Amino acid sequence: MHCDELLAALNEYVDGTANPAICEELRRHLAACDPCQVVVDNLRQTITLYRQGQPIELPPACRERLHAALRERWRQLHPVPPTA
Ligand SMILES: [Zn+2]
Repeated sequence: MHCDELLAALNEYVDGTANPAICEELRRHLAACDPCQVVVDNLRQTITLYRQGQPIELPPACRERLHAALRERWRQLHPVPPTA
């Protein structure tokens, strides 16, 4: 699994829709990839804070990578591009 694939799979992981095989791949990749560990830590903190009603900003590098993955996910789910 590459970092990009991990970021894409994270969306499903967060949604709780990832299958066990993906979860295992995520864990394996994370065990060997420090940058992705940082992203996941930030994501986990963000989710926790969002659930507490206190959204926070991710560091720009992490935010960029996450947003790229989220945009890709969004395109898959919503053919019409968001107005921006
Ligand atoms: Zn990675």
